Amino acid sequence: MNQYQFNVIGYIKSPYKQKFAIPRQPGLIPEASGQLILETPYADDAIVRGIEAFSHLWLVFVFHETADKGWSPMVRPPRLGGNTRKGVFATRATFRPNPIGLSVVKLDGVARKNGQLILQISGLDLLDDTPILDIKPYLPYSDALPAASGGFADAAPQTAMTVSISEQAAAFCEQQQQYPQLRILIEKVLKQDPRPPYKKQRDGVQQYGMTLYEYNIKWTVDGEHNHVTEIIKLP
Ligand code: SAM
Repeated sequence: MNQYQFNVIGYIKSPYKQKFAIPRQPGLIPEASGQLILETPYADDAIVRGIEAFSHLWLVFVFHETADKGWSPMVRPPRLGGNTRKGVFATRATFRPNPIGLSVVKLDGVARKNGQLILQISGLDLLDDTPILDIKPYLPYSDALPAASGGFADAAPQTAMTVSISEQAAAFCEQQQQYPQLRILIEKVLKQDPRPPYKKQRDGVQQYGMTLYEYNIKWTVDGEHNHVTEIIKLP
């Protein structure tokens, strides 16, 4: 028996509506908060009893957006500039023999709303609607290994990128009330320079756009500076 079937236990609600601009690992942007909404028959209070005693959770999920795109034994991690090849099992690439991901997130609370059982979580690196296969509590005594070596990703990625924001965009962030962290989320997403490696080599001013929550955010990149030009609410 070399095949197993799993049930999706719930889905993620995330500010990240497209793959572009999602951080490469969880915890890099603590302001990226969302929800894990448990599905029937797992939307049962008993199933999460005791979970609030844990500050962080491991989520096992499906890379659903790219699951049908196959895999190859070697990949080019963006972290290495997209030119160096590594074995897929030496990376956290999304294109894997089994398109399964693993992220540790902060648990901010458990809520029941309109009959749904919701885990409030933050520090996400997950696309909206990501299907979740399992939840396990993070155990610091066993899961935190400060002496471990991180290979080619030994420390969190750093960039020299700076960010400014237009008056319109600043006022937009101020006026919308639903996401108090919207401006800081935008700034941190841009600070990590979400552009694919091959675009980072381009000269001149480049224009980009991304969707966070229900907002379309437009910005320009000039050298090592991002400028948020406009934010529009999507219909
Ligand atoms: N922390 C996880 C892991 O190590 O398995 C994910 C690491 S993977 C390098 C992170 C990237 O996965 C994100 O930048 C985003 O582009 C992508 N991603 C997140 N959710 C996804 C999904 N549901 N389907 C496909 N790609 C996804």
